[in-house]
Amino acid sequence: MDEDTPTADVAQVVPAEVRTHLERGTQSVLVDTQALEAVRQRFDEEQATVLGSYLSSAQSPNTLRAYRTDWAAFTLWCEAEQRQFLPADPIDVAVYLATAASTPSHDNPDRWALSPATLERKAAAIAAVHGAHGVPSPTRADVVRLTLRGIRRRRRAQPERKHPLLLHTLETLLEHRPPPEYPGGVARRRDALLLLTGFAGALRRSELAALTFDDVTVDTEASTGDPLLIVRLAATKTDQQARHAAQVALPRGRRPVTCPICAFVDWAEIARAHHTGGSSAVRELLERSSSTAEGRMHRCHTHTRTGLDEGNRYPLFPPVNQHGHIGRHAMSGRAVADLVKRYARRAGLDPRAFSGHSLRSGFATQAALSGADDRAIMRQGRWTNPKTVHGYIRTANPLDDNAVTHLGL
Ligand SMILES: [Zn+2]
Repeated sequence: MDEDTPTADVAQVVPAEVRTHLERGTQSVLVDTQALEAVRQRFDEEQATVLGSYLSSAQSPNTLRAYRTDWAAFTLWCEAEQRQFLPADPIDVAVYLATAASTPSHDNPDRWALSPATLERKAAAIAAVHGAHGVPSPTRADVVRLTLRGIRRRRRAQPERKHPLLLHTLETLLEHRPPPEYPGGVARRRDALLLLTGFAGALRRSELAALTFDDVTVDTEASTGDPLLIVRLAATKTDQQARHAAQVALPRGRRPVTCPICAFVDWAEIARAHHTGGSSAVRELLERSSSTAEGRMHRCHTHTRTGLDEGNRYPLFPPVNQHGHIGRHAMSGRAVADLVKRYARRAGLDPRAFSGHSLRSGFATQAALSGADDRAIMRQGRWTNPKTVHGYIRTANPLDDNAVTHLGL
């Protein structure tokens, strides 16, 4: 499973039929069927029906709906982990809650996906289903109670915020790439493209990792005739309803060293050589290339088709080892984050302060610093919640639109 997929959201990705089935099952388990059977034997069917109707009204429809979703998520997690869910072991419940509590939000990894209140409701749902089955609830065990208490206490602090990667820092990281010759030149070219597209496209690390050569095309900007890099993104979890793939457009950089299209042209050249002639062709290509041209002139207007976009889904960002060997599969989201940290370390910055998300948050912060409005930032970054973007803008310009500047101090 991708790193960025919160375990707690597992219920959202199951097919609708399975979900309905699970939900129907939960509705009945929330009513104590054993008690009703006893009523049926001691009294009669009518009494059992009357009691059953009160029992099923004990919780509000909203709580019941939440419990059903929570129970479905828990049972799916148990199935994935091959754990028993009824009765559940307290240790398993504690691990489930701790995992859910440590899951960062999909849209903003600087925040948690679930609030302590939601996590407590999840525990209550597990307790309710156990209660309805007449089995002792695992949530009464110390290990579960103390886990929830620990979550509440720890939540008083937000997760450690990663630094946004601003343009000047990005340039510093680019300066710390390996030299252009073989074998370092291979990673040098891939990393320029990864850092520049991640930043200019405000891409998530999982989105970067999922890109293939089929998703990227060099187009022409209608008004200027300048080249334009179009990056298509698969439908993300957050716009699942829309079910349409988003695309971001990256304009030509002002300077060749920060031009995402030049970076793409350079890397596509390597990838093409690798697909046709393997490592020796890559080596030849780098030995032939003039390393001085790279920083001085744009390579992006002379671009011709890569020939790698014919539906083969060649990963855009495969792993590259220190010997310049290019892997067959795509890098993972975690490897993207590690790459950003590695460059931060090389540039003398604290790697712990940076993550894969630094590229995306860096885009928003840099754009706000340069005067872009929130609507324009939300468009490129595909943010749907203005609050997230306002957070970045406040970080960028703490005095902008702030009454403190009118105090006359
Ligand atoms: Zn260029």
